[in-house]
Amino acid sequence: MINDTIIAISTPLGYGGLGVVRLSGEKSLSIAKKIFHLKKNKTLIPPCHPILGNLYNFEKKELFEEAYLTFFPKPHTYTREDVVEISCHGSPVILEEVVRLGIKSGARHANPGEFTIRAYLNGRIDILQAEAINDIINASSLSQAEISFKQLEGGLSNKIIVLREQIIFLLGHIEASIEFPEDGLRISPKQITKTIESSIGTVKDLIESYDIGKILTEGLSLAITGKVNVGKSTLFNLLLKTERAIVTPHPGTTRDYLKEKIKINDSIFTLIDMAGIKNTSHPVEKEGIKRGKKLISEANGILLLLDASQKESREDISLIKKLKNKKTLLLFNKTDLPINMNIEKIKKMDKSLPSLKISALKGTNLDKLKEAIQDLFVPTLKQNKEIILHLWQKLILEDILSHLSQGKNLIDEGYSEEVYAEEIRKIIPLLGQLTGKIHNNEIIETIFSRFCVGK
Ligand code: GDP
Repeated sequence: MINDTIIAISTPLGYGGLGVVRLSGEKSLSIAKKIFHLKKNKTLIPPCHPILGNLYNFEKKELFEEAYLTFFPKPHTYTREDVVEISCHGSPVILEEVVRLGIKSGARHANPGEFTIRAYLNGRIDILQAEAINDIINASSLSQAEISFKQLEGGLSNKIIVLREQIIFLLGHIEASIEFPEDGLRISPKQITKTIESSIGTVKDLIESYDIGKILTEGLSLAITGKVNVGKSTLFNLLLKTERAIVTPHPGTTRDYLKEKIKINDSIFTLIDMAGIKNTSHPVEKEGIKRGKKLISEANGILLLLDASQKESREDISLIKKLKNKKTLLLFNKTDLPINMNIEKIKKMDKSLPSLKISALKGTNLDKLKEAIQDLFVPTLKQNKEIILHLWQKLILEDILSHLSQGKNLIDEGYSEEVYAEEIRKIIPLLGQLTGKIHNNEIIETIFSRFCVGK
């Protein structure tokens, strides 16, 4: 399969100023030459330089478009094969015609992600880097794109490679002492434990980073809560109106709560309006409120709204107390009206609770509100920390962690080298699966099925 030459449109479907068709494989250049004619005074195609020419329909024997061709000879290319890129006007009919003529000349239409699969199979990138390419294309925030770029540069892969080296070093010594017991263990038990502990630390850090990764890819969930009529829906609409609402195919709209994705600064939030928090005896509404309360308990953060134009009520106070263990921003709303609430008294209830005076109706302090949301809820990315973005990576790392911990327990309990070596040995194939050194078809299919054609 890898011997053939593939072709596909690499730019998004639709009309655009420019469009690119890409070929990869042994016959890329010879096929391209059938569809592309150099301008009359030119005869040479220099490597890695775009050269102007015309697209040629060999069936009709006529030129049909001006285009640039760039030839990237192997091995320093995206796929490590010969690659040709033809760029012309971004008209779907022209681009599709180039692909059709390419196929007539011996190329095969590429499957989704096939250019990247070739980069992986030809050893240019590992599976973590392949995943990072797709993540960059689909990044929902700039921070996520930056993390994926670091992974593409090999940050995460190197971490796994170092981990693998540590484990292999350890295993080598333990196995040698099993095979040549008379030589004894050439590494102190203390050193073994230390290496295992440091590996446990690395793996734990990565597993924990998944929560941040999830926030970066899926966004933080923020629930707006408070008594009836304090202005929850008004604030919800204000934020939706002033920030880019991200259109979701399945908005979670029910009669009890509303859910929308929005982007504040560079971060994505799922904003939940708990419009339905009120005492009711209606069974359907009760069910909705139950679900709403579950959403609050699962939310990453709470915007607790109080109506500052009214005296504080028992309900307000009990809500503040109830949310003690959640990351909460207290918002004194309706400050455009005369204030009747004892704001200072409320603030004293919990001095660590950040608060802000706003008017959802007039949009007062909206910028400060966005800033406070960013500061309070968005985790700061530590420099040089690797962050994993995918569940399959987390699951493998959890498997690795359990073998490491089990190995350490066996050592602590005084088991022989044979016993704990067995446990540590199980980690090597798992590390291989993580970087794709060991092919796990299920993982590879999952990753590449998410790619688009032409990538
Ligand atoms: P919810 O029940 O908490 O969702 O409250 P709503 O958003 O439906 O608001 C209840 C009433 O308060 C509406 O009439 C709003 O126009 C009004 N309201 C909301 N925010 C403000 C505000 O900042 N100032 C004033 N003056 N009225 C507000």
